[in-house]
Amino acid sequence: MRKFKTESKKLLDLMINSIYTNREIFLRELVSNASDAIDKLYLKSLTDGSVHVDQDNLAINVAFDKDARTITVSDNGIGMTEDELEKNLGTIAHSGSEEFKAANAEAQGDAVDIIGRFGVGFYSAFMVAREVSVTTRAWGSDECFRWASDGVEGYTIERVAADDPAYRATCGTDIVLHLKENTDEASYDEFLSEWQLKELIRRYSNYVRYPVKMLVTKSRQKDKPEDAPDDYTPEWEDYTELETINSMTPIWKKRSSEVTDEEYAEFYKSTFHDWADPARTFTLHAEGTLEYDALLFIPGQAPFDLYSRDYEKGLELYSSNVLIMEKCADLLPDYYNFVRGVVDSADVSLNISRETLQQTRQLQAMARRIEKKITSELESMRDQSREDYEKFFENFGRGLKYGIYQSYGMKKDELAGLLLFWSARDQKMVTLQEYAAAMPAGQKAIYYAAGDSRERLAKMPVVEAVLAKGYDVLLATQDVDEFCFQAMRDFTAKGLPMAYEDDAAREAAEKAVADGAEPEVEDRTLELKNVTSGDLDLATEDEKKAAEEATKANEGLFGAMKDALGEKVEKVAVSTRLAADGAPAVITSEGPLSLEMEKVLSVGPEADKAPKATRVLEVNAKHPVFEKLRAAQEAGETEKVGLYAELLYNQALLVEGIMPEDPVAFATQVCELM
Ligand code: ADP
Repeated sequence: MRKFKTESKKLLDLMINSIYTNREIFLRELVSNASDAIDKLYLKSLTDGSVHVDQDNLAINVAFDKDARTITVSDNGIGMTEDELEKNLGTIAHSGSEEFKAANAEAQGDAVDIIGRFGVGFYSAFMVAREVSVTTRAWGSDECFRWASDGVEGYTIERVAADDPAYRATCGTDIVLHLKENTDEASYDEFLSEWQLKELIRRYSNYVRYPVKMLVTKSRQKDKPEDAPDDYTPEWEDYTELETINSMTPIWKKRSSEVTDEEYAEFYKSTFHDWADPARTFTLHAEGTLEYDALLFIPGQAPFDLYSRDYEKGLELYSSNVLIMEKCADLLPDYYNFVRGVVDSADVSLNISRETLQQTRQLQAMARRIEKKITSELESMRDQSREDYEKFFENFGRGLKYGIYQSYGMKKDELAGLLLFWSARDQKMVTLQEYAAAMPAGQKAIYYAAGDSRERLAKMPVVEAVLAKGYDVLLATQDVDEFCFQAMRDFTAKGLPMAYEDDAAREAAEKAVADGAEPEVEDRTLELKNVTSGDLDLATEDEKKAAEEATKANEGLFGAMKDALGEKVEKVAVSTRLAADGAPAVITSEGPLSLEMEKVLSVGPEADKAPKATRVLEVNAKHPVFEKLRAAQEAGETEKVGLYAELLYNQALLVEGIMPEDPVAFATQVCELM
């Protein structure tokens, strides 16, 4: 016996012991695999002249045997070689085992969650079967192999002799499930009925492109015997017939008014192996020089590997109902990599390869249109079902922000309106437009603070100071946030109340409104400003002047402090942003690199080469500590001034969530003071 890989074993273990009520989806998973296998063979026949396939014969068969308690799913697809059997069914497919380990540790054995995140695939058979055997013959081979397992420790693979009744005369795969014994909680016999299997095929596999056939029992009137008496009553007899159970029409070819939400959801789940319903389903139908249909989905949950290197974006690409590429990456921009769906166009060549794909103008045109469609769908979700949208944003918002950052802001027109950030004032997620619309008159910029927790950011003196002015602050807690803001630089808000420069103009406008005119509005471009950056420009002219004067008047003190701090700071100055009861000092940055960005950049392999922010120590001249500093300076106690400067600097760093460069020295200094 060959052993399962550890991760496969864990997944199987979860599957077998899962109390998951949706066991029935095993059938959809097996039918879906069968359909994929037929697709592969069919495509081969279309692109390789030496492969001949009788298209009308391609089918999936479902059968059951009540006495033997088995269900069999057969296909005449591409089959598997011995190596492929080993590779495909011995390990978890479509998932990196590393990610599985991580998820398993994290979810602490929450089976539904884990199974959901990984998709179940072939292994779902073990939810209903105590033993599964897979007999398969690969295209182009005359050898047939059988894989068998009880789904516990391992599996066997053996060659099937040509005189074995199970030997397959043609390529394809037979999967036989030996159902589990019934228990008090679960009956498996329910799957051994024609009615039930038909029902499951229709519910879950209706749109599979190949016929899913089953032998069904029907009733018919017997022929009337020639010597029938006059009072002959017709007799009935049962007979069986192979019937196609599914509708087969591709769902994307149907008008959306003809398809129910449930049918779309089932199609989505079975095609893209998701456990959860999609958050949004939408279609696109293009006519003209380039004709195509697209059926697109926004998933309800993020796939476990979305942010890993292994994640592959892409849409299924069909050419007149034939699947030619499972993940056509060129159809989706990176920031919409979470979108799933199908694009079908008769205008795309079957022989298209990955290389030629990139160049086809048709494909680029489709991609542009699809991108626009996704954007407008997200916008309508944002405006019409905010709760859903916030959930969406939690799942996929990071990718949108990366989109802005990676395009150096070029994509901001497309994406900025879709972003949400936490409003410190309103305590909820807001768009930049909502932020701008709620600004009091006179506010000139959008303010944000970046760091790792909302709680900590909300308590930062600089945030409190801006809030105290009556201006909201966006609290940005993802590492990409500030890079995104910097790439955007500014945001153009639409339809804001007109800001009148001079009083006369404002009064005239107010009068006009009083006389019944519509208030004037304007689009305004607002700079995005980090509250810890140097040029906040919040203070009034008087406040600025006072601070400048105070800085000048205390030149000696600040010079001594700067000497004590050396290279750590660019300069020491009086702050205009701190209130009398605020913090004694803050550290701000001058130039494009903020302290938070420095922090993000300083983790990772290149940490020591990471650039540093240009720091300024701003001192609160209204704080009692300032008087102490001055007193020490006046008394000529240079050493004390130095010590205080270090202390102020380090405690301000701590408040910003940054470790002092020398924590031990800091601790010693605090103790000295005591
Ligand atoms: P997935 O289908 O998502 O890749 P599965 O665990 O369901 O994951 O299947 C693993 C692999 O086994 C498939 O990718 C496919 O290569 C192979 N396979 C499963 N069923 C069949 C089949 N009926 N015919 C040929 N290959 C199959």
